[in-house]
Amino acid sequence: MNKRVAVIGAGPSGLAQLRAFQSARQKGAEIPEIVCFEKQSNWGGLWNYTWRTGLDENGEPVHCSMYRYLWSNGPKEGLEFADYAFEEHFGQQIASYPPRAVLFDYIEGRVKKAGVRDWIRFSTTVRMVNFDPATEKFTVTVHDLKNDRMYDEEFDNVIVASGHFSVPNVPEYPGFDRFNGRVLHAHDFRDAREFAGKDLLLLGSSYSAEDIGSQCWKYGAKSITVAYRNAPMGFNWPENWKEVPKLERMDESTAYFADGSSKKVDAVILCTGYKHHFPFLPDDLRLKTANRLAAADLYKGVVWVYNPKLFYLGMQDQWFTFNMFDAQAWWVRDAIMGRIAVPSDTATMLADVAARVAGEDAGVDAHDAIHYQGDYVKELIAETDYPSFDVDGACEAFYEWKEHKKQDIMGFRNHRYRSVITGTMAPVHHTPWKDALDDSMVSYLQN
Ligand SMILES: Cc1cc2nc3c(=O)[nH]c(=O)nc-3n(C[C@H](O)[C@H](O)[C@H](O)COP(=O)(O)OP(=O)(O)OC[C@H]3O[C@@H](n4cnc5c(N)ncnc54)[C@H](O)[C@@H]3O)c2cc1C
Repeated sequence: MNKRVAVIGAGPSGLAQLRAFQSARQKGAEIPEIVCFEKQSNWGGLWNYTWRTGLDENGEPVHCSMYRYLWSNGPKEGLEFADYAFEEHFGQQIASYPPRAVLFDYIEGRVKKAGVRDWIRFSTTVRMVNFDPATEKFTVTVHDLKNDRMYDEEFDNVIVASGHFSVPNVPEYPGFDRFNGRVLHAHDFRDAREFAGKDLLLLGSSYSAEDIGSQCWKYGAKSITVAYRNAPMGFNWPENWKEVPKLERMDESTAYFADGSSKKVDAVILCTGYKHHFPFLPDDLRLKTANRLAAADLYKGVVWVYNPKLFYLGMQDQWFTFNMFDAQAWWVRDAIMGRIAVPSDTATMLADVAARVAGEDAGVDAHDAIHYQGDYVKELIAETDYPSFDVDGACEAFYEWKEHKKQDIMGFRNHRYRSVITGTMAPVHHTPWKDALDDSMVSYLQN
């Protein structure tokens, strides 16, 4: 096939794309030439941990938002690859909430097996993408960081898989500039032990606040105060954990909240979310969307409606992750290879986006949202040869997980679920999460 395709990013989404093309080739199809540009020196995206914060060794913004002791925040049974089960990778079924290193190993195992590492140009940042309507080709300008050399290459299609949980949304509050403690965003949080014995203030009421607070609690923080803007998370928190209404201001040592209460704190962690940020895309190609399940301007959640030669992967807010990226990658592959017809007019594609937005808006709770994204995964899978799997079963695992969190927020990771790929029940982990201080793979896989 006389086509060139650029993939930007070798995180779980970009790697899904490489595996999708490799799978077609394995089945005898002629595939385009694939070039994946990855600014880090290794693959895995957010799962590729670094202690660094700020700028990396090449002066590029550090991509990693993950931290030591991070364990999967949802059951692995909800994200399992349909073509590469946990049992295939580890030679046995493993417990349901693996730490980061274990999931990294799993992600890597599939692409090592596929033999696609040569398709990736590591330590290469994409600086700009332009489309020429006359030639119908993209010019991708990249920076080879090792050799400090910039160059252009032409492609027929571009697939943006650069993630959207890396560039922090950083609000300003009166008094931050006077506060004597540290103020940091979740993106720069690395090690809960730093906050042992400390009184911590977290701003936000989503996963980052819940999980970073839980890590700090587990590793000995003195107290956790979480200030929410709209509604509290409302879990049954430990006794040294409190949720309060929004922060109004700070002085040298104390935080003052909207209900008139105050708290002396040692540090503030901003769990205030991330931005969809694409500094390498010009206005006509750049996605601008809220972090939601029906992302703006993407037909089928992946095709840029204003130029259907450009695709985005993984830009939705996520209940489903790895298997949804797979569903998208297989679909995008087939659109590029002409196996799936993409509508030729923008109006039809915008109508599809509007229907998806309305579908999401019709939901009232997390249960509906999980179901909605499960249906989306099913829709895409039905149109490709991605191995079909029990998506409803994966939704069930998510529903149970939500229940387990309600019952015991510090104990939900002690539960287990059944694989929807192999049908095997996960073992109970050998140590309750709150007592398991070593997050290494060796420790996790011990029987
Ligand atoms: C703290 C945290 C915890 C999470 N925990 C879980 C969890 O427990 N379970 C779960 O399923 N999901 C979790 N997620 C969700 C996470 O989004 C997905 O698991 C997954 O990493 C998304 O994959 P991605 O490939 O779309 O993006 P990313 O993983 O962000 O990968 C994007 C890649 O693009 C590269 N890139 C970016 N810009 C450029 C450029 N200009 N040029 C070249 N390369 C570029 C980056 O270096 C990176 O390798 C978590 C996210 C965060 C932030």
